[in-house]
Amino acid sequence: MSYAQEVLNRVKTNYPSQVLFHQAVEEVLESLSPELDKNKKYQQNAILERLVVPDREIHFRVSWVDDAGKVQVNRAYRIEFNSAIGPYKGGLRFHPSVNEGVIKFLGFEQIFKNSLTTLAMGGGKGGSDFDPKGKSDGEIMRFCQAFMNELYRHIGATTDVPAGDIGVGGREIGYLFGQYRKLTNRFDGVLTGKALGWGGSLVRTEATGYGSVYFAQEMLKARGESLEGKVCTVSGSGNVAIYTVEKLQQLGAKPVTISDSKGMIYDKDGIDLALLKELKEVKRTSLEEYAQKRSSAVYTKASDYKAGTNGVWAIPCFAAFPSATQNELSLEDAKILLQNGCQCVSEGANMPSTIEAAHYFIQAKICYGPGKAANAGGVAVSGLEMAQNASMTPWSFEVVDERLQGIMRSIFTNASQTAAEFGEPTNLVLGANIAGFRKVANAMIDQGVF
Ligand code: GLU
Repeated sequence: MSYAQEVLNRVKTNYPSQVLFHQAVEEVLESLSPELDKNKKYQQNAILERLVVPDREIHFRVSWVDDAGKVQVNRAYRIEFNSAIGPYKGGLRFHPSVNEGVIKFLGFEQIFKNSLTTLAMGGGKGGSDFDPKGKSDGEIMRFCQAFMNELYRHIGATTDVPAGDIGVGGREIGYLFGQYRKLTNRFDGVLTGKALGWGGSLVRTEATGYGSVYFAQEMLKARGESLEGKVCTVSGSGNVAIYTVEKLQQLGAKPVTISDSKGMIYDKDGIDLALLKELKEVKRTSLEEYAQKRSSAVYTKASDYKAGTNGVWAIPCFAAFPSATQNELSLEDAKILLQNGCQCVSEGANMPSTIEAAHYFIQAKICYGPGKAANAGGVAVSGLEMAQNASMTPWSFEVVDERLQGIMRSIFTNASQTAAEFGEPTNLVLGANIAGFRKVANAMIDQGVF
């Protein structure tokens, strides 16, 4: 049995219920095999065994009082995975599906993603099974404050720097930061995704979506193609999806779909960005209203999607941007996309394609940008926010956007050159995983065993 297989089996035996964590580990370890065969030093140093067990897991209870005066209790986590190349860095997810396995899958991915950004950031992730949907501002604030009452003792600008993820945006970062400042009497760059007036970075809000489109552009450019004039499909309607739509439109492409947990919009005239922003950023309401306001749009309920598929991927497109959540694109979806002529998939979400769907894209040799490469723009601009905080100097929009484009370009170059080294130049899963791994593994070897 190979070294990678042995470690994967051990992960499955040790944590039988953490299926998303198994999936994330499997996806990375299966691509590392050629590199591990070439370099026995990794096995000698037990690098895989050390990588799959986080440095530290913090589990805590969050008790808070709702608007009716009732005490509510949620489970919360911060999992500090690996800090060999920089402080732990990664977002917080507030969603009812959050559990230890979800945060471990995200934290594990983050190690390699952050390594690919070229910046000095380790991997970590956190969150809670708290559901922000339908909560008042006051409830969100009290929950965030209660969450920080425990988290503050574990984080720091050079230790662990959380940010947003699903369910955590500018509003939540504000309440979390305020409570951190109150508890510690310090104004540190301890969270990223802050508002512009108090330490935030320009382009951070847009960064994941813009970055995913820049990554698609790089993949296509290498094949003499572009996004201009092309029909694109986008899933999700959160921060990543909104700014994917925005950048696609700026580049002259035509995004025609968006979705949320309840259903999807197909707008044949192209998504109305102002309406999307109003519904999701201001009113925080469901997408059903979009179709009521636009006659060119059709709304389909998620319960009406064909079994085992996501309705978004049934719409013919040149490029697809999965920007909602994990496993939102199945093998069946992948087949439908390619049958309809899709030539490019750039993942704005974390692990949106199932392992089978990813294999299908790789075999078909389409432009396939796996999440840890394609969506690294968000955390990359978080790294730039940390740099601005450390130097106490804000940078202009143009400077940050140019750095973001440069980082996405270098991730593409690094992943494709590494893939070419192993004789599979179009396999960016292989390239991204090996390139991300090498930097972290070598840092661990340099720094010794402890
Ligand atoms: N949650 C984002 C991600 O999955 C951003 C993390 C960050 O900015 O630290 O990479």
